[in-house]
Amino acid sequence: MLSTHSLLPKLKKEYPQLLFAPGKQFAWSPDAHTVFYDESDPKNTGLLLHELAHGLLEHHDYSKDVELVAMETEAWDKAVELASSYGIDITEETVQDNLDTYREWLHARSTCPKCEATGYQSGKSEYTCVACGHVWRVNEARICALRRYSKK
Ligand SMILES: [Zn+2]
Ligand SMILES: [Zn+2]
Repeated sequence: MLSTHSLLPKLKKEYPQLLFAPGKQFAWSPDAHTVFYDESDPKNTGLLLHELAHGLLEHHDYSKDVELVAMETEAWDKAVELASSYGIDITEETVQDNLDTYREWLHARSTCPKCEATGYQSGKSEYTCVACGHVWRVNEARICALRRYSKK
């Protein structure tokens, strides 16, 4: 099975416009224009390609949480496409498991802490409840670093 160690030289050669660097976790940094990879998890080629996909799609900032979920979906679609050209298998289950963490995150943020109805995002870090009018603040989230991915 291909490891990130043997995949990285190929990626660096193919995408010289992006930087690749070891990091604490797999992540794409639009500011540093860098794909970070976790050296302690060399089998996670799928996640490496996912972060690369964010970079190739030039994902940057987002103003609404739903946009982040859309970017995640887009990056996984692209990762699956890249994977097939490198002979890597990213299963639909892996994709859905990862997207679920974002869907759950979005659900938790948009649920009214007072009445549990669903609210709408009324500001960068603010939601408003459609049922009771309660307004609550949420923590700012960074792209692709919302949760640590489970290592399989
Ligand atoms: Zn409410
Ligand atoms: Zn992502």
